[in-house]
Amino acid sequence: MLSDKVKTQASCTDDFDSEAITVEDARQQILAKITPVIATDKLTLHQSLNRVLAQDVISTFNVPGHTNSAMDGYALSGDDLPESTPRQYGVIGTAFAGRPYKGQINSGQCVRIMTGAAMPAGTDTVVMQEHAENITDTEIRLSTGHKKYQNVRQAGEDISKDSTVLKIGHYIQAADLGVMASIGIGQVNVYRRPRIAFFSTGDELRSVGDKLGIGDIYDSNRYTLHGMLCQLNVEIIDLGIVKDNLKDLREAFKAASSNADLVITTGGVSVGEADFVKQIVEEMGEIHIWKIAMKPGRPITFGRLGNTTFFGLPGNPVSVMTTFYQFVLPAIQRLSGQADRSPLTIRVLCTSELRKRAGRFECQRGILSLNEAGQLTVCATGKQGSGILTSMSRANCLILLAETCDGIQPGDTVTVQPFNTYL
Ligand code: AMP
Ligand code: MG
Repeated sequence: MLSDKVKTQASCTDDFDSEAITVEDARQQILAKITPVIATDKLTLHQSLNRVLAQDVISTFNVPGHTNSAMDGYALSGDDLPESTPRQYGVIGTAFAGRPYKGQINSGQCVRIMTGAAMPAGTDTVVMQEHAENITDTEIRLSTGHKKYQNVRQAGEDISKDSTVLKIGHYIQAADLGVMASIGIGQVNVYRRPRIAFFSTGDELRSVGDKLGIGDIYDSNRYTLHGMLCQLNVEIIDLGIVKDNLKDLREAFKAASSNADLVITTGGVSVGEADFVKQIVEEMGEIHIWKIAMKPGRPITFGRLGNTTFFGLPGNPVSVMTTFYQFVLPAIQRLSGQADRSPLTIRVLCTSELRKRAGRFECQRGILSLNEAGQLTVCATGKQGSGILTSMSRANCLILLAETCDGIQPGDTVTVQPFNTYL
């Protein structure tokens, strides 16, 4: 006979843990413990793509440097434009981009000008060539209706001298390379990339290429982690698969923490195996957070191994990704010195029924698409079990459901987090 302490029926309270903290609390506690890297690298512009600026970037001059034409046409003084009737002008020269017209333009005169050419002395307005009537090679007629200063780019209208163009902590993207080039900067100081070591734990895990015995599975977590980390442009140290025993785990933790700023493990945080991880982390450092009211995802471990930050993620492949996006990603961003890149979340119409009980935060997998009215909508990917990794593969966003939410009906509005999209 079963003892009355052994439960034979699942109960709805199994999902709840009064000691679990909320996702937002956990994220804040985690961020408060992260110290950004301080070492910097001096890199060429090309090398600095997807790195974090360790300096402000200040322009020493105006861009554009000279007021110039935004059109191919004729440059003249705006005060000399035709008022009530069309008027003729003498064309006294040509200004090209890179080859300015150096003379002075007086009343009744204009200069043929190309896009990007500096405005000649005495001009401030361009009439586009389609709006000019050629009378001879050296004479044009303009009609009324033009405005002073039209079709001209003012000096400094993009970047003014002494302005801060990019701030310390900025994540450098394609346009930033162009902006820095436009102010003549060829090298910048960026933070060293964080070094991130990770390994999978589990006696059942095999590497791709090995034969599977009964109950064995291929280690997929290291591949998803590799992918997510590569997209963050960090330095990756893949330490493979480690068996669930104290000796191997202890060695792996030592190797990982001595080489990395952050260590991520997957698996081995549930009851039973958990004791090994917990014991080793407590030997080498301390555990800060254990239980978070989140599905899929609980339990996760956050702590430190010496000076190295540690995340022990669950083994379930979906949980690895959802906990990564909620906790590890913001931690890595803080670690890498970033100031301004939070994942984009948006409110959209949900077309699926989503089952959920109040009491914990849930990340369901969603597919964002446009409906016939051009409205952004989200539907669920189908089965939401934490072992259904194909649900992540089909999804292009997470549907974030607050602790208090007790289910969603089609037509309700939900918050979604598109993958790899940042503010
Ligand atoms: P654990 O957290 O170790 O209890 O693992 C929870 C579930 O995730 C188990 O079904 C494991 O077999 C599975 N799992 C753990 N690690 C991995 C991995 N690296 N790749 C794929 N599945 C895993
Ligand atoms: Mg395991």
